[in-house]
Amino acid sequence: KNIPVIAVDGPSGVGKGTLCQALANHFNWHLLDSGAIYRVLALAALKQNIALDDIIQLTVLALNLPLTFDSSHGDVKVLLAGVDVSKEIRTEQTGGAASEVAAINEVRTALLQRQRDFRQLPGLIADGRDMGTVVFSDAPVKIFLDASAQSRAERRMKQLQDKQIHAKFPEILQEITARDERDRNRAVAPLKPAVDALIIDTTSLSIEDVFNQAIMYIKEKL
Ligand code: C5P
Repeated sequence: KNIPVIAVDGPSGVGKGTLCQALANHFNWHLLDSGAIYRVLALAALKQNIALDDIIQLTVLALNLPLTFDSSHGDVKVLLAGVDVSKEIRTEQTGGAASEVAAINEVRTALLQRQRDFRQLPGLIADGRDMGTVVFSDAPVKIFLDASAQSRAERRMKQLQDKQIHAKFPEILQEITARDERDRNRAVAPLKPAVDALIIDTTSLSIEDVFNQAIMYIKEKL
């Protein structure tokens, strides 16, 4: 509990992943990509033909999810039952499915401890939607990134292109907007800034600007 956590929340495509990776490198702390957990759960459900609203089966799957992160080769690889699914989980289709299963309270509860286990010395950078509000509500530093839907869709497009995943801009914009709508309006752990979070609007900021603002704030807080 005395192990420090920097909680970083915000909608998709806002630059959380990039900021968190940079912070993890800078401090040499552990990194939790909580979205990847929901994505792998959704992917596993799709592969096993479990309906995305089947609460019981999804909860059982969440409790037994054979998910591991492998960072031994530089880039973090996400493994499902030992198989590398790092690329497969990044499609917007899996993101949409992830946000469906993530709206289920029992599923979120089943994944709580798995996320909290990442809190290890010397510290943790936690990337998600409810890091500051639920999972690490006692985190000494909470940052909430926001940006216009247009600029988030542009970033997501670029990311997908870099990963050689084919995508069309109007579809990405539509899917990102729909996903965020669902994340913001769900009954459990909705996407919203913690009362004690620093809010950074990244719409017209460079990656470096966001990093510098975050670092200044973190130094004040830690
Ligand atoms: O961050 P990422 O886009 O990988 O997250 C995929 C989906 O997982 C989100 O749209 C959201 O519905 C869900 N999620 C969540 N809580 C988190 C992280 C992700 O509900 N802490």
